[in-house]
Amino acid sequence: MQNNPFELDAMDILEGIRPWVEIESPTTEPDAVNRLVDLVEGEFETAGLQVERIPGRGQRGDHLRARTPWGGDGPGILVLGHLDTVHPLGVLHNQLPLRIEGNLVYGPGIADMKGGAYLALNAVRYLMAQGETTPLPITFVYNSDEEVGSRTSKALIEETARQAKHVLVCEPGRNGGSVVTARKGSGRFTVSVTGRPSHSGTNHADGRSALKELAHQILQLEAMTDYERGITVNVGVASGGTRPNVVPGEAVAEVDLRMSTPETAEEMAGKILGLQPITPDVAIAVTGQLNRYPYTKNEAIEGLYQHAKRLAAEIGLDLPDIATGGGSDGNFTAAMGLPTLDALGADGAYAHTYNEHIFLDQLVPRQTLLIRLMQTLM
Ligand SMILES: [Zn+2]
Repeated sequence: MQNNPFELDAMDILEGIRPWVEIESPTTEPDAVNRLVDLVEGEFETAGLQVERIPGRGQRGDHLRARTPWGGDGPGILVLGHLDTVHPLGVLHNQLPLRIEGNLVYGPGIADMKGGAYLALNAVRYLMAQGETTPLPITFVYNSDEEVGSRTSKALIEETARQAKHVLVCEPGRNGGSVVTARKGSGRFTVSVTGRPSHSGTNHADGRSALKELAHQILQLEAMTDYERGITVNVGVASGGTRPNVVPGEAVAEVDLRMSTPETAEEMAGKILGLQPITPDVAIAVTGQLNRYPYTKNEAIEGLYQHAKRLAAEIGLDLPDIATGGGSDGNFTAAMGLPTLDALGADGAYAHTYNEHIFLDQLVPRQTLLIRLMQTLM
């Protein structure tokens, strides 16, 4: 039996999450994302936090930074969340309507991560309604481009994190309530090949096939995968050529790199950026960069995790931790050396699919854990 010291109610919490899910917010639709930003900004203000709204750039929505009125600008707790989702507009009304089926609550972004972003805001709202303050000030950064790599919010997150002692990330719980204490780092690259087009019937020998060169490069890239060292290189998209009877003059591939350690991050990025042509008379150009550095479990992260695990035990929750290949904004703060604990949001499953859901009976324990973390972190 789980302990509910704050007499929280799962249906009340779900009613609070509902409007967040009912405003669809795909990363690529800044106007839609900003309608959710409006709602969340209002909730922070009504709760009594100081809110800044940072205008979006480059076809992305706005970001929010909100701070509790206590603690001045001293170091505190940073809560990271994102308001964007991977689901296109319309999914809510077609493939994934918001609905309760037994213990499962379905909806686009309900797990990843509107549920968790709501729980964190609601935790501080709850505390403030009780007239409580916390030992440390709490700052929230809720961005609108996490699902595409946080390019327009990374600097905001890092700048805010410089004032943080602990970082709590409200991505969804994993595999039955696990939190995340390590994530792979990632990079994205584009390999462009320029060959020489020619008529494949009359002038085949004059042509230099960009696709043939790209095929060599793809095999070379894929061979960089080394599971033992935690490195994967995936060529996820490739295209080139114009017609079957033309030796292709252009070809391009998109590459996703993941790695487990900071050393292999630089090493692998260097290898990919340094690719050289294999066949004669073609040119290759590689662009791209590392995006998220690996988030590796160190002593400080272990300490924060053990603290959370003790609090979880008090409310009857087992709180296993896992490492995952997927990145999050927690990678940025962990790479800065800050104790970062991720996947503290709603417990759920099947994020990024039409089966995305959260577990109703885990809302109260998860809400309680966030409140307890805010009350006890020093
Ligand atoms: Zn997420």
